[in-house]
Amino acid sequence: MEHTPSPWTDAGPIPVTHALAGDARADVCIVGAGIAGLSTAYECVRAGLKVIVLDDGPIGGGETSRTTAHLSNAFDDRYHNIERVLGADAARLVAASHTKAIDEIERIVQAERIDCGFERVDGYLFSPDREGQEELEQEIGAALRAGLPDVSWVERAPFPSFDTGRCLRWPRQALAPLYRRHFDMMRVGAPPPEESTEFAALLGERGVAPIFLLAPTTPESRIAAVAKLARGYVYYVSLKGVTGASHLDTAEVSRKLAEIRRHVRLPIGVGFGIRDAASARAIAADADAVVIGSRIIQEIESGPADGAADRAGAWLAGIRSALDSMRERAA
Ligand SMILES: Cc1cc2nc3c(=O)[nH]c(=O)nc-3n(C[C@H](O)[C@H](O)[C@H](O)COP(=O)(O)OP(=O)(O)OC[C@H]3O[C@@H](n4cnc5c(N)ncnc54)[C@H](O)[C@@H]3O)c2cc1C
Repeated sequence: MEHTPSPWTDAGPIPVTHALAGDARADVCIVGAGIAGLSTAYECVRAGLKVIVLDDGPIGGGETSRTTAHLSNAFDDRYHNIERVLGADAARLVAASHTKAIDEIERIVQAERIDCGFERVDGYLFSPDREGQEELEQEIGAALRAGLPDVSWVERAPFPSFDTGRCLRWPRQALAPLYRRHFDMMRVGAPPPEESTEFAALLGERGVAPIFLLAPTTPESRIAAVAKLARGYVYYVSLKGVTGASHLDTAEVSRKLAEIRRHVRLPIGVGFGIRDAASARAIAADADAVVIGSRIIQEIESGPADGAADRAGAWLAGIRSALDSMRERAA
């Protein structure tokens, strides 16, 4: 797990605590300061009890630090399984407890005014193959019997760029949208702008900017379509070909950027084919940002791993000073 840092791990300062200095008395002692232990502690304190929480690591540093923050009563192990193995009463208990847990978290978020972006959303359970569709049939039956009357079939989930096929809509789920805190732009390789109106609107509602790509072959009509939807910046791919290809025609880039700027009022970043200080400066003369990828990777791969960061840093320092000298001359 240490190789997959979660956004929560740097979401904010965690209170620093210390080992107990001596004996202490409490009504309740809880071992484990994860979501389970802290929720229990919170309820105990609200009930007027004195609580001690013990942990041998940081608060929320266990599995809780990895959560994706979806709150769902669509049970991972499936209602039809729990009904088959443990019976209908157990399935009803699972449905009621998961539903109550989401309600309770919503109540706490409101009562404590916690700025975590808590939001009620529809969830969708889908499966692309026939076998999965049969499982969905079983699942909706079991979910309805378990006391979740609003679970229903829909023809597909409302994701413009991905067809889920017929699937189950699971209303009143919840999430704490991490993207609000951890990223605010999304580069969109597909779909094309003509099919992105709904997608861009959904991102916009959540404060995320869709970053569209334009290329030397992009016709003016599509540039105009991108101009209507793009937010943040626009990314111009300066070459026909693969990343890091050579033969960058900077005069052609300059001409195309002028065409793009007739429609797009946002900053324009230019990438592909920028391999040295001279090409970076030539691009920077017209672009708002210079994007370099493959050339840095080459630098990283050109020697032993332990010197990779230094080699990349030294190479980038040359680019940096070339760009800074342009700025100084302009000032
Ligand atoms: C990648 C990922 C995504 C997930 N996404 C979701 C999701 O979207 N929605 C969802 O509901 N669930 C999700 N989960 C599951 C959810 O994160 C866990 O079910 C939940 O965090 C478990 O909380 P916990 O308090 O029981 O355990 P933990 O958070 O692991 O807390 C246990 C604590 O006990 C402490 N401890 C253990 N032993 C001792 C000891 N002997 N002495 C002192 N302290 C001790 C540990 O240090 C730890 O802090 C996800 C899990 C992962 C890994």
